[in-house]
Amino acid sequence: MIYNRCGKSGVLLPAISLGLWHNFGSVDVFENGRSIIRRAFDCGITHFDLANNYGPEPGSAEENFGKILKLDFTGNLRDELIISTKAGYLMWPGPYGEWGSRKYLLSSLDQSLKRMQLEYVDIFYSHRPDPNTPLEETMMALDSAVKSGKALYAGISNYRAADAKKAIDILKQLGTPCLIHQPKYSMFERWVEGGLLDVLEEAGVGCIPFSPLAQGMLTNKYLKGIPENSRAAKSSGHLQTSEITERRLQQISQLNGIAIKRNQSLAQMALAWLMKDKRITTVLIGASSVAQLDDNLASLKNIDFSTTELDAIEKILKDK
Ligand code: NDP
Repeated sequence: MIYNRCGKSGVLLPAISLGLWHNFGSVDVFENGRSIIRRAFDCGITHFDLANNYGPEPGSAEENFGKILKLDFTGNLRDELIISTKAGYLMWPGPYGEWGSRKYLLSSLDQSLKRMQLEYVDIFYSHRPDPNTPLEETMMALDSAVKSGKALYAGISNYRAADAKKAIDILKQLGTPCLIHQPKYSMFERWVEGGLLDVLEEAGVGCIPFSPLAQGMLTNKYLKGIPENSRAAKSSGHLQTSEITERRLQQISQLNGIAIKRNQSLAQMALAWLMKDKRITTVLIGASSVAQLDDNLASLKNIDFSTTELDAIEKILKDK
């Protein structure tokens, strides 16, 4: 594993981190999830990313992760892990179960700790900006989480460049520097290139792109239709079949051609393409099997691109 410094902090994160959004809920096979986590850690993945609502059922990914920690990460292994969780999306009924109030964030963190049977998380995120709550209130809640010892670091997710800058400034004034930003970023989703990455670099904040494989589209799995058991086929999966358009399939096929010439799978090339930018601390993958995890880990064998390769990829991505 390669470990990269997270912004200008003291924390090193593995170049690949594992997220538990899909495949670890109460609808999934527990032992499969357990094998993936065990394999990940054995391969040097020290960072596991959760959120209050991951499942389904919401909360069940945290519960299952807590069980796996109790089974397999005994002794001092907690000290070898960076565990994150978030609050922002709908979790419970009534006016205090989502968005960015202090009431919601701190109650949610307590619930997450209980589900995971942990005393603290390493990173606590505001999962999304709340247009109706003062940014100061949301950031003060993150600061309180850190100062109470229930989280070691604060993070933000899905904040656009201008809001991210404001949030980072507020946290700095409060004495709890923002450790990391978690945006959606892949070959198919590039909004972060329009300013956010510059803001993060300037402020010394790390970046952990989520859905780096566009939920599985940036692999060769959908080239011959929609396989049974794939995220697009599952009712609990968030990838809509309408997203897998003819144009996308053409792009995937062309990108696959370049990957083959690089002796990589498309998944490996898509991850390497993100890792080539030094502003990216770690890429946050998902995996539904140990084999997928292994495939993705092998991306680390080649993260260099020639200018010719980069130009060819750019042409494919720009052609609408
Ligand atoms: P990816 O883009 O990496 O998609 C993962 C999925 O792609 C897998 O579950 C699997 O789907 C498929 N896949 C992975 N590797 C391979 C491979 N080598 N070959 C073929 N198929 C493969 O990431 P996710 O969308 O899962 O997101 C990753 C993490 O990011 C989440 O778990 C979560 O922690 C975080 N996240 C954060 C969000 C936020 O708002 N902050 C929002 C969304 C995610 P299949 O089931 O089809 O096998």
